[in-house]
Formats: sequence, C-alpha cells, structure tokens
Amino acid sequence: MTFSDQAIETPPRAPSPVHRFGTLAVHAGSPHDPVTGAVIEPISLSTTFAQSSVGNPVGVYEYVRSSNPNRTNFETAVAALEHARYALAFSSGSATTATILQSLASGSHVVSVSDVYGGTHRYFTKVASAHGVSVTFSPSIALEIEDLIRPDETKLIWIESPSNPTLSLVDIRAVADVAHRHGIQVVVDNTFLSPYIQNPLDHGADIVVHSVTKYINGHSDVLMGAAAFNSASLYERLSFLQNAIGAVPSAFDCWLAHRGMKTLHLRAREASRNGTMVARALQSSPHVLAVNYPGLPSHAQHAIALKQHRNGMGGGMLSFRIKGGKPAAERFCQETKIFTLAESLGGVESLVEVPGSMTHAGIPQDQREAAGVFDDMVRISCGVEDGEDLVQDVVRALERVVVGSKLNGQTNGYA
Ligand SMILES: *Cc1c(COP(=O)(O)O)cnc(C)c1O
Repeated sequence: MTFSDQAIETPPRAPSPVHRFGTLAVHAGSPHDPVTGAVIEPISLSTTFAQSSVGNPVGVYEYVRSSNPNRTNFETAVAALEHARYALAFSSGSATTATILQSLASGSHVVSVSDVYGGTHRYFTKVASAHGVSVTFSPSIALEIEDLIRPDETKLIWIESPSNPTLSLVDIRAVADVAHRHGIQVVVDNTFLSPYIQNPLDHGADIVVHSVTKYINGHSDVLMGAAAFNSASLYERLSFLQNAIGAVPSAFDCWLAHRGMKTLHLRAREASRNGTMVARALQSSPHVLAVNYPGLPSHAQHAIALKQHRNGMGGGMLSFRIKGGKPAAERFCQETKIFTLAESLGGVESLVEVPGSMTHAGIPQDQREAAGVFDDMVRISCGVEDGEDLVQDVVRALERVVVGSKLNGQTNGYA
C-alpha cells in the first residue's frame, strides 16, 4: 500500500486571496496531514529525504537547508498575509537583511532612511561596506530621494515605516514611484506594524522584510526573519542565496512561528488598541515632552497612517521624550510594574526601553540625535494585557519618577 492509498480525503481547503486576513492567518500553509488527518502539521525534524532512484526524491524535499515541510508551510502563510507570490524564511531578521544586501553586486549603492533598526544600521555601515556596497542615510527620504539616487549605482532603497524608534512614517508609494522610474527596487522593513496593519507591496514596494522574532511569532520565543515579494527573478536570486548562505531557520522554529502567526490579527488589533490608549495618556501628561505615535492625529505624518495602515491603526509601538533627561528616562523604565525593561518588541507582554542607551547605543550620539533619537527617549512595545492596566502603570511610573527626582533635590526643568 502506498501513502496515496492511505491518504484521507479532505475537501479542498486552499485559502485564496478572496479570504480575509484572519481566515488566511489560520489556514494558509496549514494543510491537514494527508496520512493521519492531523489538523496541525507535524514537526518534520528529518534533515534528509529519501530518493526512490538517483535524483528522484520521493516527495519535493531533498535536504533540510534547501527546504523542509515546516518552512514551506510558514513561507506560504507569510506570502498570503503580505499579498505576495513568494516568501522566504531566514534564521533572523538580520540574516534576511544580510541576504538581500548580499544579492547586490560590489559597487552598488543603497539609500536608506536614517533611523533604521540599530542592527540594520550596523550591517549597512560595518559589513556591507566590506563587500563594496555603500549606503547613504536620509532623514527625509521622500523629499530627498531624487537627489540621492546615483545613476547606474543605486540599486536599492531601504525604508522602515514606522521607523525605529521615532515612529516616523514614509509614503511608500511616493518613494517607489521615483525609484521605479530609475529602475531601483524598494525594500520596506514592516516589522513594527506586521502584515495585519500594513502591506507594503500594495503600496509599490518590491520586497517586504520582517523580523519574525517580533509580531509575527509574537511570543518572544523564536528568532527568525522573512522576506516576501512578487518577482520570479527575485525569487530565483534570493532562494539561491537562502540555500547558498544557509542562514535558515530550524523546522521547530518555523512550526512555532507559524503557530504564533495564526493569531497575529487578534494580537495586532489588541496591541494597537493598547498603543492608542497609552499614547493618549502620555500626550496628556505634564511630565512628557513629546509623543511619537502614528495613530494620534497630532503625529506629523498621520495622513500617511490613514492612507497606508489598516483603518489608520497606529500599531503597538510608540516612543516619547520624558522631562528630566536621560536619568528620568532610565528611572521610568525601572518604575513600571507591568512593562518589563527589555529590548525587543511585538510580543504578548509589554516592554519598555531607552533606545539611546540600549537598542541604538551603537550609533554615534551626533548621528543618533540628528535622527531624533535623544537620550530622554523611551520606547514602548504594548502587549496584549488590558489597556486600562497599562495606562495606569505608565501614569504611576511617571509620577514616581517626578517624586523621586524631587526627593533627590534634582531640577528637571519642570519641578
Ligand atoms: C528586531 C528587528 C530587526 C532584526 O531582526 P532579528 O530577528 O533580531 O535579527 C530588523 N528590523 C527591525 C525593525 C527590528 O525590530
């Protein structure tokens, strides 16, 4: 008896673009096991796959680095949620960035937003340069793009929207229109919003990248990355590099991240609702200098959020400048009871950090401040706890910072 004789017949249940996000999140890349009918795919730990004759594998798989069932299913699901024809998974968000940059020939030039993720900045300035790829950073890429493009040299535009940690937005369509006139491809790091809130390919981007470690997995227990795109030639080049460089995720991590992604819409909705509540509370606090949250009408690029984000949602990430400088920012992060002081974001639990001293400490201070990352900035990742509890935690922590500094006889400019 062969496997196909045993296969349990199930009705066709391939999700399609007619389905909405939640349906795709739950079903895309999630076939029932054809042998047992298991609703949840087994974790396929085998590193190699049998061949019936030389060069004729039994199924579609040969060796785990090239592809394996859990990775294929995860990639299928990411492609569906990002409205892409293809997706590729990598061992981290950083490995995704590195693999895309490796696809550029020596002598290539990249234009990037200034306030990129710290690790991306590090790769651009310390690693890509060693391969003969140079990067120009722009604080206002939509305005400057035309002038920054070098004919024949510029191959890639790198956008983060919202950016990290200032949460400024880029009009992807406006940048893509200019880039495409020059035959240049546009990459958008969509980590901060997740595919639930923003789909960059719909706005003209050529590649969307994610640190899956954040919202897509969503439970702070997997390190992974992914890229999604529509071009068959990009698929050919990047899947070649995925296999050749080998920065690929394990089957177990793919399985976990896929499980996490099935509730992405629920988590992203709740995190965005909490982000809005916390941003409003911060905005009305006398202890806060400025709040960066794309969901607030006061945000400088709120109009872009309304155009680019699902229902104008602001997401779960925000940052603010606290009165009292770096000491106040650091004390605030120790005074919260629900928010944990830690790097990273996008998990079910709320986190808080000081970018100038933590995630962005590797960027020289003058460059950091030019990008709007001041030492008194606090970055918040709202999880999916109850919003009322998060607001109370933030408000009380702000009050304790003020009282603490008065007791210490410090003048914070507001005392
Ligand atoms: C975390 C992060 C990355 C890097 O991802 P890793 O999975 O940590 O390698 C890239 N971009 C953004 C916006 C991130 O937050």
